[in-house]
Amino acid sequence: MPSTLIHPELRINSYGSWLRRRFGCRISKVNVDGDFTCPNRDGSRGSGGCIYCNNSSFSPGGTQPVIPLETQMAEGMAYHRRRLGSEKFIVYFQKHTNTYGPPAKLRDLFGRALAHPDVVGISVGTRPDALDDEAIAFLEELAREHYVCLELGLQSMDDAILARINRGHTLAEYLRAVERVAGRGIDLCTHLIYGFPGETREGFLRTAELIASLPVTSLKLHQLHAVAGTRLADLYYRGEFVPLTLDEYVATACDFLERLPAEVAIQRLYGSAPLAIRVAPTWDLKNNQMWYTIVNELHRRGTWQGCRLTGECCRVGNL
Ligand code: SF4
Repeated sequence: MPSTLIHPELRINSYGSWLRRRFGCRISKVNVDGDFTCPNRDGSRGSGGCIYCNNSSFSPGGTQPVIPLETQMAEGMAYHRRRLGSEKFIVYFQKHTNTYGPPAKLRDLFGRALAHPDVVGISVGTRPDALDDEAIAFLEELAREHYVCLELGLQSMDDAILARINRGHTLAEYLRAVERVAGRGIDLCTHLIYGFPGETREGFLRTAELIASLPVTSLKLHQLHAVAGTRLADLYYRGEFVPLTLDEYVATACDFLERLPAEVAIQRLYGSAPLAIRVAPTWDLKNNQMWYTIVNELHRRGTWQGCRLTGECCRVGNL
């Protein structure tokens, strides 16, 4: 039988269910823009950024940094209350590298976000090489009273791929960051992408073993997609980046989930970009269709997240 952590319909430990178990009500993440930059763009770590990066592809309208934080939060919360009936919120500092700034800025922004009575916590997107001791100590301090999730971008565990995509850090730096954050009350989310040029399915699936060996509480996965204005889009136009097909991605995402411990909550299983800047692949599926394409494939197989770790896949006779 699947673990009780696995949602019977979704066949995964979805982050939505995980949040409901933890907080006892419907929680939504509200994206805000804290006006940070990125060390892989400003020259301190690298320049030009990751080859797939165009921050407008993951920034919903209305979160420009010129808008005061409280206004961004109010608009995001109103949207989620209206659309989903959400009762409480996690403020998500998403764009660029949200620990890459002076300590006073982090104190100001994170403190203001957590001051709202309907905010249960913050989620902070960052890079493994942009976490100084002071930032970790501050997040630990906040985590004594609030939910604090640190979202660390790894993207690939293969250093050759990390170099090829101009990621600007190595697997060892990610592992060192995880080690420094572990045991301090801070939840860890890891970001992964599948479909890099030169990446193999087998190589990617080994990432599930890596995640299983670490104190990672949640995970975001998406297909590599090219958006306008990126070097990846140039590679695509030159025929040097061949995007995955939908079937390839869905099959590998399911293979990956079957190897991932049930304890790891799944925050995301696909990526999307605004139509105006989307280059490839163009699967023409809405976000929830993409999500259910993967869920339906798990149903078709008769499998679920983590089933290969317990040997239960064999018993359902599909694999
Ligand atoms: S680390 Fe993030 S913000 Fe910086 S270049 Fe890469 S994808 Fe863009």
